Amino acid sequence: MTSSAAAAAVSPAPSHPLLKPGGNLREETVTYVHHWTDTLFTFKTTREPSFRFINGQFAMIGLIVDNKPLLRAYSMVSSNYEEFLEFLSIKVPDGPLTSRLQHLKVGDKIIVGKKATGTLLQDNLTPARTLYLLSTGTGLAPFMSIIKDPDAYERFDKIVLVHGVRTMGELAYADFITKELPENEFIGEMVKDKLVYYPTVTREAFRNQGRVTDLIRSGKLFADLGLPPLNIETDRIMLCGSPAMLAEMRDMLDGLKWQEGSTTGAGQYVIEKAFVEQ
Ligand SMILES: Cc1cc2nc3c(=O)[nH]c(=O)nc-3n(C[C@H](O)[C@H](O)[C@H](O)COP(=O)(O)OP(=O)(O)OC[C@H]3O[C@@H](n4cnc5c(N)ncnc54)[C@H](O)[C@@H]3O)c2cc1C
Repeated sequence: MTSSAAAAAVSPAPSHPLLKPGGNLREETVTYVHHWTDTLFTFKTTREPSFRFINGQFAMIGLIVDNKPLLRAYSMVSSNYEEFLEFLSIKVPDGPLTSRLQHLKVGDKIIVGKKATGTLLQDNLTPARTLYLLSTGTGLAPFMSIIKDPDAYERFDKIVLVHGVRTMGELAYADFITKELPENEFIGEMVKDKLVYYPTVTREAFRNQGRVTDLIRSGKLFADLGLPPLNIETDRIMLCGSPAMLAEMRDMLDGLKWQEGSTTGAGQYVIEKAFVEQ
């Protein structure tokens, strides 16, 4: 086999001219789809090994529609050491991308941007004892990659994952977090020792109820978990959720003189929008 024939054998020709080698996009194949509810689903794809990211980051993903890439920001649910990519997606009925994406089937192709970015990075936080990961809806996605990251358990004594949703069906990954992850052969012991999961539901009866911001403001979250109230010396926060939740939390933390971290300087909290309101 000639060297160009060998190259063709391992890297098949992209199926669309927009996906030319050296371009910003690549194609991946869907390997798994799971629908949590009418409005929420998860899918996995193949992963080109050269696609590198830091846990907590997002990439542009999408479909080719009318001969043009239709791309949206998506956080990786998968951790950077996993051999596949995994995403958690909303289904917006008339959303340009998700009205189509929700019909994905195993074997379908999606396109993935080659660059990952984002602010939800452990390096953007100064060292402390407890890491709070506060999410609503699909804002859980970047935190899934962080709770699978051994580095996070080395940096922090405790990781508290809070997920706020409207209905119990939207508590995506609840079984994975409580049953599978603690049994993981590599990080299970750290998870059992350090990860605390606090799901909360606003529109149905559930063991924890109420909005994430109300649970923090009232102190109920900390009382339920047997933890002290937020403390700028010992705690760090990552936030990913609806624009309303983020605005309220930012006001609260700025009022307490917490500094927002970014790649230009570490702080006590970091924020990423789970979506943009139009
Ligand atoms: C940094 C970043 C990371 C993101 N990560 C994810 C992710 O991991 N999973 C995901 O599903 N979406 C994520 N989004 C939102 C995503 O980029 C798209 O908006 C979403 O896929 C809908 O695309 P669309 O073309 O169907 O509709 P759009 O035209 O993009 O959105 C239409 C409207 O739907 C609502 N909406 C959009 N996304 C959401 C959402 N996730 N939850 C609730 N309401 C929403 C908003 O009101 C928005 O104005 C992220 C957005 C940003 C900015």
